[in-house]
This record gives sequence, C-alpha cells and structure tokens, in this order.
Amino acid sequence: MIKLVKKIVFALLCGLTSLIAQNNAGYWQQHVDYTMDVAMDVKTYQYSGTQKLVYTNNSSETLNRVYYHLYYNAFQPGSEMDVRLQTIKDGDKRMLVDGKSRIASLSESEMGYLHATALTQDGMPVKFNEEETILVVDLAKPIPPGGKTTLNMDFKGQVPLQIRRSGRDSSEGVALSMSQWYPKMAEYDFEGWHSNPYIAREFHGVWGDFDVKLTLDKDYTVGGTGYLQNPNEIGHGYEAPGTKIKTKGKTLTWHFKAPNVHDFMWAADPEYVHDIVEMENGPALHFFYKNKPELAENWKNLQPKTKAAMEFFSKNIGKYPYEQYSVVQGGDGGMEYAMSTLITGDRKFGSLVGVMVHEMAHSWFQHILATNESKHSWMDEGFTTFISSLCMDQIMDQNKENPFEGSYKGYYALVNSGKEQPQTTHADRYDLNFAYGIAAYSKGSIFLSQLGYVIGQDKLMETIRKYYDDFKFKHPVPNDIKRTAEKVSGIELDWYLTDWTQTTNTIDYGIQKITEKNGKTTITLERIGLMPMPLDILVVDANGNQETYYVPLRMMRGEKENPYPNLKRTVVDDWAWAYPTYDLVIDKPLDEITGVLIDPSKLMADVDQGNNVYQQN
Ligand SMILES: [Zn+2]
Repeated sequence: MIKLVKKIVFALLCGLTSLIAQNNAGYWQQHVDYTMDVAMDVKTYQYSGTQKLVYTNNSSETLNRVYYHLYYNAFQPGSEMDVRLQTIKDGDKRMLVDGKSRIASLSESEMGYLHATALTQDGMPVKFNEEETILVVDLAKPIPPGGKTTLNMDFKGQVPLQIRRSGRDSSEGVALSMSQWYPKMAEYDFEGWHSNPYIAREFHGVWGDFDVKLTLDKDYTVGGTGYLQNPNEIGHGYEAPGTKIKTKGKTLTWHFKAPNVHDFMWAADPEYVHDIVEMENGPALHFFYKNKPELAENWKNLQPKTKAAMEFFSKNIGKYPYEQYSVVQGGDGGMEYAMSTLITGDRKFGSLVGVMVHEMAHSWFQHILATNESKHSWMDEGFTTFISSLCMDQIMDQNKENPFEGSYKGYYALVNSGKEQPQTTHADRYDLNFAYGIAAYSKGSIFLSQLGYVIGQDKLMETIRKYYDDFKFKHPVPNDIKRTAEKVSGIELDWYLTDWTQTTNTIDYGIQKITEKNGKTTITLERIGLMPMPLDILVVDANGNQETYYVPLRMMRGEKENPYPNLKRTVVDDWAWAYPTYDLVIDKPLDEITGVLIDPSKLMADVDQGNNVYQQN
C-alpha cells in the first residue's frame, strides 16, 4: 500500500550512541592456552602432534574431570553423525549420495579419526576414555578453584574425505580444510559442562591463546586462524616485499599465534593464490583461492566488498578486536572460524559476497560474544542473518524495501508446515533440518527485526551495540539480549522473549469490522493469534493524507518513539492482551477513510496478513 520501509532502514543505520560497558560479575568461563606441534603427511592425510594445554579453573568448584572434543571420530561408519544422517527425514544433501549416508561408505583410509595416544597431567599419567567424539579424562589430581594445571597429550589423526565442513579433497579441489581437527577442550562455564557429542552442528568453546606449529609439504600455502610468526622463512605471499626465501628440505614449518580465540582453523593447498588487503584502521584481510582463471575476477572483486563489510560491522556492532581476517576457499558452503572463514569459491559474484558477509558477521556473534550455539542457535545464526541482511543491502546497493523479507517468508512457510519447534530446542534435537534452519536463521533474524518494530529502530541498533559491548567474551544467554533492550528502551520485554523463543505461539492481528456512528469511525481490531504485540496502524484519507495510530501493548509499560516522524501519530489507549478485540475510534466519517493498514513496515511477523488491510472500494 505505502512504502515507508526505506525510512525505517535508514533509521536503522544512523544515530547510534555509545554506552558505558558494565561488569557482568556472574559470568565466568575457563581459560586454556594451547601449544601444538603437528606434522601432516599430505599423501596419506594422516597427522600426528603434541599438545600442551595449560588449563585455568575459573570456577568456584574443584574439578576432577575434564572433557575434550575429538570431532573427527564422527566421520566413521556407525557414528552418531552417520546414524542421525540415516534416520533424519531431510538429511543434508552434501552428506548424502543417492539418498544414502556418505559416512556409511567411508573406507579405512577415507574415514576420519582423532585419538589421544598419551596424556599426562603435570607429569602424571591420567585415565582417559574415548566416547566417540568426546574424550573423558579423570584427572590425576583435582584442579582447585583458581588453580592451573598442564595437560600434555600426544595425538594422531586422519583427515576424512570431506563430508561436512572439514576434510580433504573438497568438491572444488581444495586439498585440506582443517577445522575441528585438534583435541579441543570442552567448555565449562556458569551453565556447567558442555561436552556435546558431534552429531551435526553447532559449537561452543573455551577462549585462550594458541601457539601452533604445522609442518607439511613446502608446496602448500596455508591460511586460516592466527598470525604467522615466521613469514620471511615461509614466503607464500606472507614475506616482507623483496625478501628472498631460502628453503631446505621438502617441508616447511609454519608457526602461528592466535590470542584469545576459541577455535583454530587452517586450510592448505598447493594451488592457492594469496592476496593481502591492508585496511587503514582495521585488520589485514587475507584471501586464499584456487589459481583458476574462472575464479580470479570474482575473488578480486570480493576484496573491496570484504573491506566494506568489515567497516559496516565494526561501525554497527563494535570494533573487530583482531588484526587479521582471512577469507579462504574451502569447506562445503560457508562456515565461520576464529579470525577466518572457509567458503566455497566457485559461485556467482552476489552469492560469493553473500556468503563472505554472513560468515564474517559470525566473528561478532559466534566468536566474540559466543553464545552457546547448540542451545541458542537463534542468537548466533539469527543475529548473524539479521546484520548481514542489512550489510548486504548497503554494500551491494540493493535498497530493498524490506531487507529481511526472505527471513519472514521462511518463517511463514515453517508455521504453515506445522513442523515448527520452539527456539529453545537443542540444535541437534530438531525433528527436521528444515525446522532447525528456519528457527535458527530466519526466526532468529526476525527476533531482532521485529524487536526494532517493538522498541524502535534506533533503540534496536543501540541495543545491539550495548549487547556486544557488555557481553563480548562472556557467552551471553537469551535473557541478556532482552535485558539490554529493556535498559535501552525502557520497555518491558519478558513477554517478547518468552512467546517468541520458548513457544510456537504466532502473531495474527486483523481488522474485524469498520463502523460509523455520529460522524466517527470505529475500527474494531481483533487479536487472533496468542502472541501479544503493539500495533502501528496507518490510516489514509480521501485526499491521500496519511497518519498513524499507535496502540501500545499494556504489558510493555512503555512506548516507542514515532517510527514515522514525517507523519502525524496519535498514541491511543493501551491494549491489554487478554481482550480479543480493541476499538480504535477515528474522528472522521467512514467515507473520508480510504485505507487502513496494520503495520505498514511488515516487520511484525503476522502469519495472516490478509486481514491487516481495509481499502474503500
Ligand atoms: Zn551462519
């Protein structure tokens, strides 16, 4: 009917105030520092290494046990991941061939594994037991609150054929996509242990400093997490300009350091092109892609877009805290890692930019805020989808009427399918991948775009910046985004968090009837869905004049500012949720009203919009 959404998007992008960070004393998590020395045989795809892990117990309890993730053990016939793939109705196509699990048919030399071969704690041997993707370790001596201990491990692994995310020989011919590849300490934080088996998706980790040495065939170029410490010995595009590289022997040992990260990914290929783009007030951007003529143009054009995305996120969420970010061709789609991403590279330009933007946005939500993705995937995938939709709109000059339209479409399709599960569902426990995908990405994105409708767009952007500032490196939980929005807006939002994320209640408001009496028009509004919402109502008169009426929800105990400052707005009485109808009285005869519309922004996820509009014939 009327296109006001442009104004909303504009409002989203401007006028942000900075807020003073507060101390969240109740939050704590462990700290781990890794030193690893690993040798990879690029012919057999087998590797072995040593790991020294210094563990700091920041909890108030004494620990007798710790757990490591051994993700590569998921890529074996009969694993939980394999069985889940065989039993879920809509299995991930990348993991299937002719409808059958690709894991089930892996041979001994193609499967993945990761095993601890020796483990000591402060020099004493410890008892350890593999439960597929989790190593259970009974400590030789307890770690007291505030105590430190050193765990030394020898390990060996085999890189699986690429099935999902990580692996060898990707569909685009990348030799090594090394994610989830090392024995990784499980997180123990204010919510307890998180020793999740690796079944399909989502991660949670412990921040710490990584010192990693990788030895492999000298023809391979390596990119990923961490700052290279010996660039002038390595070359491969890392060296200072004009440096002559002298190599001896058949291998090179790459030495990387990465401070305060909860993951370490690397990828390697003998055919990588390596470009570096320095940003003036930001990180150095590294690009690694196969040396193929059909990729070169897109991957060169990707570079200024990567710079623009980094600037957009740093401005709208908060400053990126590392000095490097790498976009690496590899993996099986797009996946975020510390200071880097693995993406498939043989795409149309728009899709290449889209996947880079999405994965880069994860740096803030998955890596630096780092909500537990298994438990609250919507706070990671959803918030990432929200901010990357805005970023794409700006850096690709899309100027969409509603940059979030795709998320709303997906959500409505899920509701109509009857397969929706609440967002409190553990990421592995959705009945369908479809239901997980929409709940996490689309409904999670709408949590924010619709919150902007509830509290106002400038307050939403202020909320995101304050949330990042207050909760970076803390593993925030759902209540934290709600409390932040409450503090910023002065509006109570418990109803919003509970109905949207913990139930499958839907929103449906409608215009039930319009009547006239004594020269005044009564618009009878109806609440059909269970979920409460405040309403913006646009009224258009016979001369084409527009004005709005704002019906606050009583339990909000507050009001948003006028989202359409160029239009006259009348704030009418609150609507108390339990009442199924509400009479909005307009001081005009009916024949002077040509149109009425509930929520012209379409940011309220009303599942039936057919009843949102009245138009005079
Ligand atoms: Zn994502």
